[in-house]
Amino acid sequence: TATLYVVATPIGNVTDITLRALHLLALADVVACEDTRKTGALLQRFGLGKQTIAAHMHNEREVADKIVERLQAGQRVALVSDAGTPAVSDPGARIVDAVRAAGLNVVPLPGPSAAVAALSASGLVNDRFHFVGFLPAKPKQRESALAALVRETSTLVLYEAPHRIVECVEGLTSVFEPTRQVVFARELSKMFEEVHRCPLGEALAWVKADQHRERGEFVVLVEGAPRATDAEDAEAERILQILLAECS
Ligand code: SAM
Repeated sequence: TATLYVVATPIGNVTDITLRALHLLALADVVACEDTRKTGALLQRFGLGKQTIAAHMHNEREVADKIVERLQAGQRVALVSDAGTPAVSDPGARIVDAVRAAGLNVVPLPGPSAAVAALSASGLVNDRFHFVGFLPAKPKQRESALAALVRETSTLVLYEAPHRIVECVEGLTSVFEPTRQVVFARELSKMFEEVHRCPLGEALAWVKADQHRERGEFVVLVEGAPRATDAEDAEAERILQILLAECS
C-alpha cells in the first residue's frame, strides 16, 4: 500500500540527519515541507535535488488532499518540517489524518525533537512529562494557561518562540513557586548551545545576565508539583471512606 513517510530532520546540526532519513528522502518522488527554500537547502546539502511542495499551516487542508492523490497514484511522499519532528508543534497532523482517513499507511522516521533532547539533558523527572508546546502570546492568556498547570506533577515541557524568553520567564515567575527547578535548553545542537538548570527564582537574572540569551530557540522545562506521598494518599483514602460511610 501507498505510504506517507513522516521524516524528522535536524534541529540545528545538519549531521543529526539519520541515515534512514537520507535513504528515504533519496527514494521519495516528492518532499512536502513547510518552507521549500529551507528544505531545498537541506536536500542540496546532501546532494538530493528533489521536487518539493509547500505544506504549511495556511494550506495544510488543501495540500492534504493533493498528497492523498499523489499517494494513490503510486508516488512516494515524504513529509518534513523546518526542523525536528513534523506534526509536533509543527504542521503535519492534518495531512497524516487525511492519509489515514483514505486508508493509506503512515510511517514515522524517528529523529531529532527539541522536547526530547531537552528532557534527556535536564536531569528532571522524565518518566512522565506534560508537553505544553507554545504558550499563548498574550500575557493574560499565557498566565491563565500556566495557572492551569500549577498542580501538574509531571515535568512541564514548553516551547518558546525566539525573542519571547523574558516574557515566558516573567509568566512562570508570577505563577509558580520560586523553588521549582527550571531548565533552559537553548540553541540545542548549535554553536551557542546551553542547557542551564536553576531554581525559578534565579531564572530571570540568568536570562538577563547575557543579552544573547534573550534570543535563540528555547525549550523550557519546569519541575512538576510535588507528588502526594503514599502516607498522604492513605490519609485521603481513610477520610474518603469515613465520608462514604456517612453518606450511606
Ligand atoms: N517539531 C519541532 C520538534 O520536534 O522539535 C519543533 C518545532 S517548533 C515550530 C519550534 C520550537 O522548537 C522553537 O521555538 C523552540 O522552542 C524549539 N526548538 C527547535 N529547535 C531548537 C533548538 N535547536 N534548541 C532549542 N529549542 C529548539
